[in-house]
Order: sequence, then structure tokens, then C-alpha cells
Amino acid sequence: MAISDHVDLEAFMQGVHKRNPGQTEFIQAVREVAQDVFEFIADKEQYHAAQILRRLAEPDRVVSFRVCWEDDQRNIRVQRGWRVQNNNAIGPYKGGLRFHPTVTESVLKFLAFEQTFKNSLTGLPMGGGKGGANFNPKGKSDSEVMRFCQAFMTELYRHIGPDTDVPAGDIGVGSREIGYLFGQYKRITNRWEGVLTGKALEYGGSRMRPEATGYGAVIFLQNMLQHVRQDIAGKRAVISGSGNVATHAAEKIVELGGKVLTLSDSDGFVHDPSGIDRHKIDWVKDLKTRRRGRISEYAQEFKGSTYHAGKRPWGVACDVALPCATQNELDGAAARTLIDNGVVAVAEGANMPTTLEGVDVFHAARILYAPGKAANAGGVAVSGLEMSQNSERVTWNTERLGTLLRDIMIDIHGKCVEYGSLKGGHVNYVKGANIAGFKKVADAMLAFGVV
Ligand code: NDP
Repeated sequence: MAISDHVDLEAFMQGVHKRNPGQTEFIQAVREVAQDVFEFIADKEQYHAAQILRRLAEPDRVVSFRVCWEDDQRNIRVQRGWRVQNNNAIGPYKGGLRFHPTVTESVLKFLAFEQTFKNSLTGLPMGGGKGGANFNPKGKSDSEVMRFCQAFMTELYRHIGPDTDVPAGDIGVGSREIGYLFGQYKRITNRWEGVLTGKALEYGGSRMRPEATGYGAVIFLQNMLQHVRQDIAGKRAVISGSGNVATHAAEKIVELGGKVLTLSDSDGFVHDPSGIDRHKIDWVKDLKTRRRGRISEYAQEFKGSTYHAGKRPWGVACDVALPCATQNELDGAAARTLIDNGVVAVAEGANMPTTLEGVDVFHAARILYAPGKAANAGGVAVSGLEMSQNSERVTWNTERLGTLLRDIMIDIHGKCVEYGSLKGGHVNYVKGANIAGFKKVADAMLAFGVV
């Protein structure tokens, strides 16, 4: 028999540890997928012989580069930028750019790995990638952000392209940054092409893209609840974050008759027992995007609400929880608190917000729990549709895109049920998403032979 990766999970993970020393987030993401995939491929020799999982856990390439820019005081500043191109078996690399001081190679490798399975789940032809820089846009002037984005793109442009790698936004990269990045790409290459998604409507963006991740997560949540004959209407929701994903998730919860109790940022959370309604959500959007303020200001603006500095919102009693801020923001203790308070479903708007221990706690309690790679795939799905519109040189209307988003989320839910249903009918959505996402990419890789 040929050499294969027919080892057990622990031996496989030891190899991952050895090859990626200190990259805890990446190792965590690989373990989460590997434990489900190992079970699925146990009797499928073709995947072992081709070492598919071993290959998937080794990015196609990681580009790391210096980003040198001048601040307003004319000081020279040096940051590190990266693009991780994880896998392009089923389409061009696709995944966001993150600008945040916590960005490391490990964080981007984990995100690019996750993105590969998520993009596969959407059913659209997109591979997995992710990039960013350890740059903190907070407190920087518009000119500083522009100069940073231009310096970043001056290196990145040679690694991307509409059929090669199509980045988008993520934490710290919103429409302002996408504008500066796209402008610089166009200036350097003298080409207008759909090389970035998340663009503004005026220059090739897609309707529904800003809303897609948050709305999609709530549509997924709605499907999970309907699967057990429940509904969002009347449910109390605890949401973390106050950025793009959190505010749009809140909007959709309210539209479907639920009540949003919390929002947060990296400094603390606000609790509004009377509910964060549409008007208040619009106020938060303006606070975070235009005024670039802090969520603590909410408690000064809206009577009856309270601000909890340095805390996360998981102690507030609720029926559904949507972590929509960042990775590892919900640990085992927080998961137990949510369960003690009666939570029935958790849908991740953020990427890997729940720790492995937290996931185990949800699974043991048979809570409806949707991992980010399934629940937040609506964002990249509409990004994929933005690529299609750019290639066709057309713009689709909101109704069409809303229907496509809904259909894609329903389809992803169906795949999770197909591959993740356990005896007795409970659905393990992590397992379902991992196996369905893996299978499509793995079968494409098998077709290519040894490359
Ligand atoms: P934004 O930058 O718009 O908002 C991020 C929010 O999370 C802010 O409220 C921010 O607070 C908070 N946050 C960031 N870092 C931390 C931290 N270390 N601890 C606590 N809170 C933190 O980002 P998005 O809303 O776009 O992204 C949120 C999550 O969703 C990320 O995990 C992202 O990868 C994921 N995601 C986003 C998609 C999209 O389409 N935008 C698509 C799929 C996934 P503060 O203002 O203090 O920084």
C-alpha cells in the first residue's frame, strides 16, 4: 500500500503542532475540522492515499511583506502585511483583509483555513484565502488610513487578481478602506476589474453585501429553529460586537419579531432591557462607522440601558445568542452560563468566536449551535455574487440578491442536516458543515492528481 496519512487524529495533530509552532489559533481550527473529517474518511482510502487533509492543512502559500507608511507627524511607521492563499481547488482564493493589532500569521492561517470550507459550503466557485496587517485604524486620521492602504496595496497587488485571488473587508476594513485599496490597485495596474469585493455601489459593489453576513446568520438561525418547530418571533437575543455583522444581525432579528438586548465592542457591552430597536441600531451604525465612537456612548444616549466596562454580554439571560465580534470571545464558562439561563440556539456571526471547550459544552447540552463557517457564509456568498456581477458588467437588484442569499443559507442548512444529523434527530452543525465543506474541495483535489 502507498504511504498515506492513515494515522490517528492525535498523531496527525502532533504533526500539525510540529510544523506550526506557537500558532494556536491555526492549530485550534485544524483540530476542529480534523476530528469530524477523520471520522468521515475512516473508510475512504482515496482521501488518505492522496493525503488530502494533510495538504489542506498546509496553505498553498503565505506571503508576508513590509508595509512602510508616513503618519501625519511625518514619522515613518512599519507594519507587517500578509496574504494567506490556503486553497484554490474550486475557485480563485477568496477571503477578507483584517486590519487589527491582534493580527498574526496564525490568526490569518486559521481564517484562511476556515474560509476554504465556508466558501465550499456556499456552492459558489471560490477557494479560501485571508489577509491583513497588524495595523490599528483606530485613532488614525483619514489621510493616515489612506496612506496605509495605498502602501499595503502597493505590495499586495502583485499577488491578487479577479481570477487569482479576490480579497474583501473584515475587521477594521470597511467601505472606506476598500475604497482606498481599490483606488490604489486601479492606479498601479491601470485596470478596472473586480479584484476586491465589498466595494461601494458607485464603483461595482453589490447590493445586499453590507447586510449579507448579519442577515445570513439570522436566516440560518431561523432555519435551525424551524427545524425544531420554533421561531425567532418573541425570542430575546444577546449579540456581541457592534460592527457590520452585529448591527445587521440585530436588524434582521428585529425584522423577524425578536428582541435584541445587547451589543458590545472590545471595551465592554451595553444592555438595553427595553430592546435595541431599528432606530437605536441606526444610531449605533452611525456611531461606529461615521463618528467612530465607542459603544459606551449608547448608555448615555438611551435611558434605561446600562454599560458594563470590560465585560462580555453572555451573562444576560436570553433565548438565542449571536457572537458577532471576534475569535475566542465565548469560552466554556460563558457557554455554561448561557445554558443555565435557558439559551436554545447559538449562531456565530463572527469567525470561531466559541472556544473548543465552549463548543463541547454546547454539544453536550444538545443546544442548536451553528459554527461561523456555516452561519456567516452569507457574506462571502454575496461577495461571490458581486464577482459574477462584475464579470458580467451588470448590477442586480436587492430583491434578486435577497432571494439568492436566502436560498444559499437554506441550502447550507440543508447540507449541515444531511451530513450532521445524529441518531434521535439532533443536528451537529459543526460536523455537518465540516464534512460537506471538505467533500467538495477534497473531490476537486483528487481530480487534479498530485499538485
Ligand atoms: P467590524 O470591524 O465591523 O466590527 C468588529 C466588532 O467586533 C466591533 O464591535 C469591535 O469592537 C469588536 N471587536 C473586534 N475585536 C475585538 C476583540 N478582540 N474583543 C472584543 N470585541 C472585538 O467587523 P465585522 O463586523 O465585519 O466582523 C466581525 C466578525 O465577523 C469577525 O470575526 C469577522 O471575521 C467575521 N465575519 C465578517 C464578515 C463580513 O462580511 N464583514 C463575513 C464573515 C465573517 P471595536 O470597535 O472595539 O474594535
